Amino acid sequence: MAVAARPLVIAHRGACGYLPEHTLVAKALAFGQGADYLEQDVVATRDGELVVFHDLTLDEVTDVATRFPGRQRADGHFYCRDFDLGELKTLGVGPRRRSGGELQHPGRFPESGGRFGIPTLAEEIRFIRGLIQASGRVVGIYPEIKDPAWHRAAGIDLGAQMLQLLESTACADPRMPVFLQCFDPAELQRLRREFNPQLPFVQLIGSDHGQPSERELETIAGYAQAIGPSLKLVYRGRTGKGAVTTTLVDDAHRAGLLVHPYTFRSDDLPSGVANFDELLDLFLRQLGVDGLFTDFPDMARVFIDRHLPA
Ligand code: CA
Repeated sequence: MAVAARPLVIAHRGACGYLPEHTLVAKALAFGQGADYLEQDVVATRDGELVVFHDLTLDEVTDVATRFPGRQRADGHFYCRDFDLGELKTLGVGPRRRSGGELQHPGRFPESGGRFGIPTLAEEIRFIRGLIQASGRVVGIYPEIKDPAWHRAAGIDLGAQMLQLLESTACADPRMPVFLQCFDPAELQRLRREFNPQLPFVQLIGSDHGQPSERELETIAGYAQAIGPSLKLVYRGRTGKGAVTTTLVDDAHRAGLLVHPYTFRSDDLPSGVANFDELLDLFLRQLGVDGLFTDFPDMARVFIDRHLPA
């Protein structure tokens, strides 16, 4: 795949630096801020509906514990897969909390700011289509298959269901390009083998994976068009001589893969980085990534428009 002319701004869970993650308002804000793609994490409900939600469990961003006391599993967690869509629709979504109860990002949108709900993937696609129709602007979607092996063990083929929905909705609309992402290489390989859809796949790579070898990247290039590595696999920190970076971006480009690292947060910078623009400059101008996942799509948009004009 040819390297995109301009790097893509991928709104990580929407503009979640400003509004609760994966709510439709966070997606609308990201759209208004000029994101090129809006991300969806997708999990399944008990009745087999696909919802846009980051975790397998509901604990950290909803009021499930007060609304459905006693519905947790033995491990103490409330699982999406244990609730019907109608039940999930009664939950309020708020800021993300750690298991101890404290806010993960204290400076962000507060609990008191409003009550928001969980959208289904189909609802969100309709919503984004509405934005495209009303504005005339193209925006892509970037759904992630969450824990496909876990879902299969829980009785649902999440990847195949998502593909089916995407192919009958977003993929039929040239104004809504799609990247399909997943951490599980076996799942992406299976979907490529069994369905061979038109849409590009993105192999996510976590920071615990270690830097992929050239051979691994060649394998990935056999079924995917891009990698989505943790930015920690690219940026290692700073010494007196400057930023320490790996060869991953160049290696992936040589293998014919686009590179869309995650996650760029102005309120949670990696060590040794003085400010957000410095981080964007390193990845976008010096390393030449093809896009990035950010909680703050407005800042990435401004940077790209200023420094990497069309
Ligand atoms: Ca994700």
